[in-house]
Amino acid sequence: MKIKVICILSALAFSAWPASGFCHRPDGAKSHAPDEVLVQFRSDVSPELAQAAHRFAGATRIKRFKHVDIDRVKVPHGWTVAETVELYRLDPDVECAEPNFYRQTDATPNDTRFNFQWALNNVGQSGGTQDADIDAPEAWNLQTGNSALVVAVLDTGVDLDHPDIEGNIWTNAGEDWNNGAPGNNGLDDDGNGKIDDYYGWDFVNDDNDPDDDSDGHGTHVAGVIAADGNNGVGIAGVAWSASIMVLKMLSADNEGLVSDEIAAIDYAIGNGANVINASFGGSGYSQSEYNAIKRAQNQGILFVAAAGNFSEDNDTDPYYPASHDLNNIISVAGTDRYDTLVGSSNYGRNSVDVAAPGALVYSTSVGNSYAYMSGTSMAAPHVSGLAVLIWSDNFALTYDQVKDHILGGVDLIGSLSGYTATGGRINAYNSLALPLPPSDLAASLLSDKRVNLRWQYRWSGQQGFKVERKHGPGGAYSEIATVDSGTTSYADGSVGNSGTYHYRVRAYSTSGESNYSNETAVTISTASASGGGGGGGGGGCFISTTMD
Ligand code: CA
Ligand code: CA
Ligand code: CA
Repeated sequence: MKIKVICILSALAFSAWPASGFCHRPDGAKSHAPDEVLVQFRSDVSPELAQAAHRFAGATRIKRFKHVDIDRVKVPHGWTVAETVELYRLDPDVECAEPNFYRQTDATPNDTRFNFQWALNNVGQSGGTQDADIDAPEAWNLQTGNSALVVAVLDTGVDLDHPDIEGNIWTNAGEDWNNGAPGNNGLDDDGNGKIDDYYGWDFVNDDNDPDDDSDGHGTHVAGVIAADGNNGVGIAGVAWSASIMVLKMLSADNEGLVSDEIAAIDYAIGNGANVINASFGGSGYSQSEYNAIKRAQNQGILFVAAAGNFSEDNDTDPYYPASHDLNNIISVAGTDRYDTLVGSSNYGRNSVDVAAPGALVYSTSVGNSYAYMSGTSMAAPHVSGLAVLIWSDNFALTYDQVKDHILGGVDLIGSLSGYTATGGRINAYNSLALPLPPSDLAASLLSDKRVNLRWQYRWSGQQGFKVERKHGPGGAYSEIATVDSGTTSYADGSVGNSGTYHYRVRAYSTSGESNYSNETAVTISTASASGGGGGGGGGGCFISTTMD
């Protein structure tokens, strides 16, 4: 967080004081320093007179900004910021007084159409709710991507000449190049089985030109992942930088064969992809497809797949490749700008992991254009882009750790509860900045007065854990303890009344708190609670533990 004394700038520009006495209306200001105000005196007021005014107010000057006659002042003891501001307003020597607002850095890119990208930062121009976006600017303060990360886009191809994408297209250094241009020598220079495969491959037509000849599906997907960010043109991808490996396996009609998909997956494996984006699917189970994605898993590749657009429950009606039971797959449902599950999106309490924006998503299209498109095809690439950001932050992470960061950082959304495994929509900032939640929380009863809690924590970066408890299903959770970072257990010796005690734990760091662990519960019977003493777990005590 950066603090800027914004009044200096605004004071130079203002021409009339609002009735509030503030230098300017604090639009969007969320908070201010709790015990400071900024005071600007009239230009003819001497520093001595200003100092006398502070003494009169009982305030202390922290710093004087001479060139603009502004003093940063500590409020008098026992006074609020608002009261102090009002006090200074009464002084005829004072031009204006205002809180010392916090300002936060905000890596809003200079891309001219960024304001259409509600999915990344919904500032209201698209309607909906501000919280429906994935907090991309906040994430970009921490990480904007890296061209070393390769995302294989298995799709209709990509418009290779789109000025907002061409800088992020993967190129095959193993083929012959002539002053930065493809040499086209008709040889398979790198011996990967493909002749002159400079940007990927067209598996539909079996040639080296994977340009997008569809309505722009693949170009749109690629732009969501990694349109060139902050280049002063068009839009920004979730990752400003990445290398898009263009593997065309869907025809101009947006259809493709599993045989071409498998060939594309094997190309991605053989040529260094980190992430595969699969914004397609179908209902027929394919063992060959499973095997190919399993091979990708063995190479540490994350496979991000659209959950499908048929309003169906993938738990009962599987949709492939999203529904394959493989740990490197992330199955993605779609949300809209109101942060609700899109009506057409497939879902699945067990088989769909997470949601991402998938309605009226603005991205690149064919012929140097831009377009809105909807569907889980647009949701999946938000997740692929986030994978790039997470991996760019730490190249040592394994695919399952990247997945943990994506799933562990979600914003929990009511409309997704019971419809996805996490119950959440991705939040890029949370995934990068916040600690991950503990897992496998379990409780056991040591005695009728003592509950032992244990949980798992596989990550790092947390300062400790906060333990919360509630009594009875209708109770409210409250924090009962904090635990050091190295400890993954807690003994609660303050239970006493009979009934059911529910527990949950979360990690915290200087950046904030994680999502909660699973909940667990312990029931103490009346007989046990009134009986006193008694052995652990025996007698009238019984334990029930729930995980979800
Ligand atoms: Ca080759
Ligand atoms: Ca060649
Ligand atoms: Ca751009």
